[in-house]
Amino acid sequence: MKRSRKLTDIRFEVRGPITEEAARMEREGRAVLKLNIGNPAEFGFAAPEEFIAQISARMAGAQGYSDARGLPEARAAVAAYARSKGIAASEDDVFIGNGVSELIQMSMNALLDDGDEVLLPAPDYPVWTSWVTLSGGRAVHYICDEQADWCPDIADIRRKITAKTRAIVLINPNNPTGALYPREALEEIAGIAREHGLMIFSDEIYDRSVMDGEEHVSAAAAAPDVFCATFGGLSKSHMLCGFRSAWMILSGPEPEGDYRDGLTLLANLRISPNVPGQLAIEPALGDFGGANPYVMPGSRLYEQRKFIVGALNAIPGISVVQPKAAFYLFPKIDTAKFGVKDDGRFVLDFLKEKGVLLVPGSGFNWPRPDHVRIVYLAGLPWLREAAEKLEEFLGGYRQS
Ligand code: PLP
Repeated sequence: MKRSRKLTDIRFEVRGPITEEAARMEREGRAVLKLNIGNPAEFGFAAPEEFIAQISARMAGAQGYSDARGLPEARAAVAAYARSKGIAASEDDVFIGNGVSELIQMSMNALLDDGDEVLLPAPDYPVWTSWVTLSGGRAVHYICDEQADWCPDIADIRRKITAKTRAIVLINPNNPTGALYPREALEEIAGIAREHGLMIFSDEIYDRSVMDGEEHVSAAAAAPDVFCATFGGLSKSHMLCGFRSAWMILSGPEPEGDYRDGLTLLANLRISPNVPGQLAIEPALGDFGGANPYVMPGSRLYEQRKFIVGALNAIPGISVVQPKAAFYLFPKIDTAKFGVKDDGRFVLDFLKEKGVLLVPGSGFNWPRPDHVRIVYLAGLPWLREAAEKLEEFLGGYRQS
């Protein structure tokens, strides 16, 4: 039985073939340090016990389907959260999803005709590129500039707009770079969207994982006169990936047409988002919606970032921009020094020799083989071990 040709260009390296090799090594009894997936619970991050108790107490009420767009009280809580961030939205503008992942799929399926183009960041979170492609669209990547703290290259966005461009996707804070976009950059991108009649899709799932007292600005708040879809959820900001609980908020002047009807149709087709996960939204954005304790100075994420940035920058041939948010790093490898032509091979060689699992930068649609992604959720002893192993590995590495 052959798989569909639609899947030919679809990749998800975060859970790709290299991870299968890691699983094989583990079956053979080798320890593998997995710094490839942003799954906080696996590294001991947990939501407060009182929060879990409060949700558990509500489970009996989760037995039926909900409204296809989501529970009204969950949507109202999301709308209130949106307003607190400067986005004018009501309960009717909110769609709840089984993770942002499902909402990316719905939002692209509802929008794209064959051949329509969507501008996406490079590096990107590859689920976006995959769903643009699977929805019949063409993913066109604009470069984010490492020299400018990985902010989008505005001139490159402009250059890549064609008559077929429908939308600009932003991932802010960004996975895999940890970048946080300044208001001015968002305003410039809003200007481009306004000029060309494009919709903005802004994935803001890491909006509460921002460090150094910096403020996260929603694209929709910086662009109130542009039709936007803003994505958020509990997976990362509340360390609750397993709840599969997320939202999408429409805002700004809605152009004539039936895009919203398309979304509602797709929401109806999936019947209802999972209700247990939805029951967590109201308390998560209310009683448990205060400052994120994991990003304060002295907290685990903050200290882990400090350590790993310093350790990587001390390795000859590696350099990394300090991320401002989320829990990823996108370090650069000196490809001339190590003869690296294939980043997948580099990651595989490192895995086989040292038992540490990373993700190649090309898995994030980065066009050159000179980056890898590291998740820094693991505690300090593991990060120290990973940095030492990388230095040892590079001491003798040359790709033939
Ligand atoms: N968007 C970004 C930028 C992500 O990094 C991730 C997961 O890593 C997701 C969306 C998926 O989120 P969810 O767990 O809500 O499906």
